[in-house]
Amino acid sequence: MLELYKTYLEVIDRYLNKCFEEQQPFIHCHAGCTACCEIGEYPFSRLEMEYLMSGFPELPAKTQKIIREEIKKLKLAKKQYRGRFMHKCPFLIQNKCSLYPRRGIICRTHGLASFEDKNGKCVIKLPECSKNGLNYSEVLENGTVSLERFRVYGVEAPVKHSLSLNYFEHEILKGVQGLEFGEIRPLLEWFTDAGE
Ligand code: SF4
Repeated sequence: MLELYKTYLEVIDRYLNKCFEEQQPFIHCHAGCTACCEIGEYPFSRLEMEYLMSGFPELPAKTQKIIREEIKKLKLAKKQYRGRFMHKCPFLIQNKCSLYPRRGIICRTHGLASFEDKNGKCVIKLPECSKNGLNYSEVLENGTVSLERFRVYGVEAPVKHSLSLNYFEHEILKGVQGLEFGEIRPLLEWFTDAGE
């Protein structure tokens, strides 16, 4: 299954590269920026998790230990917290993703805007960093998306892409036999309290 996923990850990456090209006027991603890995829940499907962790044994023992300890700490903090637990990703070590080539689909979409169909209404979802003067900050007006501001950039229909896993499964990879993403959980929920 992982081999099949690796093949189709190339298809997903090509789709996402196209999204980045089309959204280029609003993208301010730069080397060393880790904003998207600093705060989130990072939903991963079972398949993505297996792929991510298949790279874990290849990490230096010291890095593995740091990640395990971080997961343990986060699990404990989550228990004591009520509500949606947003946190730094435990795989972010010294401002770099320690498993970058095997990162999840959510990680590959970091920084892009997307749309969601909510009861027949198209809702544009901007990346979190838009609030910090980064991607898409140009189209924010008092904290909400301004279509008028999109027009200033000559963009009439701002974002056409869905970035949900459901969309990837059913549209981008449609017809692919045997690829099962499985259950989706926030990253931390794939680990026991001992960080394993
Ligand atoms: S797995 Fe890597 S790219 Fe994804 S959120 Fe964690 S540090 Fe960032």
